[in-house]
Formats: sequence, C-alpha cells, structure tokens
Amino acid sequence: MEQTEPETQTTPRNTTWVVAIVRGYGPLLAALALVAISAVLILRLPTRALVTAPTATPTATPTLTPTPTPRPPLPTPGAALLDDLARLPVAGADGAPLARDLEPFTLPADLSKREEVLVYTVQRGDTLWSIAERFNLKMDSLFWANREALPDVHMLRVGLQLNILPEDGVYHTADGAETIQEIAERFNVTPETIIDSVYNDLAYLAPEDAPPPGTRIVVPGGADDYADWVWRPEVIYANTASGGVGVNFAPGHPGSCGPVPEGTGSGGVFANPVSGWYQVGWQFQEWHRGIDLMTTEGIPVVAAAPGTVIFAGWNTWGYGNLIVLSHGDGWTTYYAHLSYLNVGCGQYVSTGQFIGEIGTTGRSSGPHLHFEIRQNGEPLDPANFVGF
Ligand SMILES: [Zn+2]
Repeated sequence: MEQTEPETQTTPRNTTWVVAIVRGYGPLLAALALVAISAVLILRLPTRALVTAPTATPTATPTLTPTPTPRPPLPTPGAALLDDLARLPVAGADGAPLARDLEPFTLPADLSKREEVLVYTVQRGDTLWSIAERFNLKMDSLFWANREALPDVHMLRVGLQLNILPEDGVYHTADGAETIQEIAERFNVTPETIIDSVYNDLAYLAPEDAPPPGTRIVVPGGADDYADWVWRPEVIYANTASGGVGVNFAPGHPGSCGPVPEGTGSGGVFANPVSGWYQVGWQFQEWHRGIDLMTTEGIPVVAAAPGTVIFAGWNTWGYGNLIVLSHGDGWTTYYAHLSYLNVGCGQYVSTGQFIGEIGTTGRSSGPHLHFEIRQNGEPLDPANFVGF
C-alpha cells in the first residue's frame, strides 16, 4: 500500500510533461532538457573529484597528518572560564552524573586494569568528569579517595594530586582504634571484602582487629556519605523587643550579623540571582548543595527574594565572601564567592536588588556565584525554583 503512493504521485507529472511535448514544444524542451542534464553532469563530476582529492592527499604525504601523540592543550576561546573549576561540565538533566559507558579499549591496559592506588596530578584542561571517566570510576569514588585534597568540588586545581582507586569504592585511613568490622559497617561492605581484597595487605587480620594507624585501606564497593560536606551553621531564633522574630545566624563566624530581624515574605518563590550573562556550572547534587553560575568578575548579584541580610562577610567554610538572606518561614538563600558586598547586616532587600558582585573568593578556582536555597537549613535544588 505505502509503496504504491509515490508512483501515483509521479504519474500526473509525467502526463503533463508528455502533453507539453505533444503540443509542439517537444523538440525545444527536449533540447533544453539535454542541455540541463549535461550541465548538471559536467558540474557534478569535477565537484566529486575535488572532494575526494584532499582526503587522498594526506595519506600520500604523511607529514601533513595531525600527530595524535600527547601535546599541551591548545588555548581555546574563553580560556579563563575554561580553566579549573569554571570549565567543569554540568551534570545530566536530572542532576545525576552523566552516565556514559567507557570503552575499555580506548584506555591503555595499565590504566583500565589497576591493582593499586595511583596518584594522578591534575593537568590543565582536566575536569572531575574527565578524570573519573579516564579511570573508569564514579565521581563519588574520586571524592571518597580524596577527602583531604578535594574537600569539595570547588577545589580542583592544576597540580593537585589525587588518589585514583583501582575500582569504585572508598579509600580510608585507619586510626588504629577502628576494627575492620567497624570500618566495613561504616562503608557498607563485609569485613572479608576489605581483608581479602588484593589491593590491601590485611590478610593477616581478623574482622575484630584494628589495622595499624595510618594504614590506607581500599574498601572496594564501599560507599561513604557527604553529610559532613554541608555547612550547617548554628541558627538561633528569638523574639525581639519589638515583638518580631530575630535570628542569629552562624554566631561566632566572621561574617555573622548577630541577632537581626528575620526576613518575611518569599513564600518559597525565588528569582534568578545573577543579573547578566552566565553559564551553569555544577548543578545540585550529592556533593554540591547549590548551583554554580559561572560568569565574569563584577557581574551584579541580586536578591532572589525579599528578605533581610543575616550574614555578610567572610566565611571560613569555603564560601569566601558570603551573603545570606533570610526570607521568613525558614527560607534562606546563600550567595558565595563574592568580590564585593553591597549590603550590610540587618538590611532589608527586595527581589532583584543589587547585593554584591561575582567573585572567586574562598574555595573557588574561577569567577562564579555559588547559589543555595535552603529551607530550615536543608539545601534544596535551586533549579526547582528558578529557571536557569
Ligand atoms: Zn558551587
């Protein structure tokens, strides 16, 4: 049925053509058609020849073929942004790591099948994604093997040395007190997984033994958590003399405002905090409790909702110059790594009001705004509130 349709469509055209020839224009039209066909043929043949010629040339002259051997990465447009953190690719649309199966044959044999922990020095152009893919590891394993060197995603820098596990899991340092049983339970594996692993020299120990302090232990298939990666400042609410609610956010921290009036009125509605061009960097996920909006230093940062300033200044957790706004009902927003603060403690701000400028202070290796939305201290995915 479907195959006959094209034929029924072409038939009327042919009929018209034939009719035109019969009506006396036959010789003229036939001549024109011949000229047209030969013109097409003449034009086409040399074109094909031109296309095929260059592909043949490089094989004849090997000196012209690009060398696939390692070489320093070429400078690319926007090199400042492409550097270190700022060029880190974004996660998948659902916020999960981009799950792409690595083709084993693309890796040298010694990298794809490792029997010990390697130390890899971060190169220019590397990203956490590319390193994880290169060694066929999950992003989590990269973090769980580098708690000290890589306290969070903002810390990737050229020259940083990373432990590369032979397979996914956790790299743990024994404290001399914890038994293998306890370590196994903490990372959700069996004691035998640790004792029998070819990556460890612990076969002489029983589950109830504690490995000597400082022993580095590979926990294949182990899973840690990121609970201690989230800054959970102390927040004290109190009634003010005027009858309102006051909040003392992160008391004792350099940028803390001390007791100031709590904000009101966001209703869980938030606007885009960057007023200008930006690119989305790290999105909200297990190891990153906010969204990174990468742009150039000095771009204005604006309040995402009406509220009061409860933190304005230096943060020792890694946020650098930080502004935190209170919006009432337990809602807060964080604006980190700022180069300039345009508001002060206790100040009321409205949505879209200029509060600071993009910077790269604190744990940051490129100009960007690290933006968080929290409710009752719990970070939520900003992309659920703002269309980035
Ligand atoms: Zn961030």
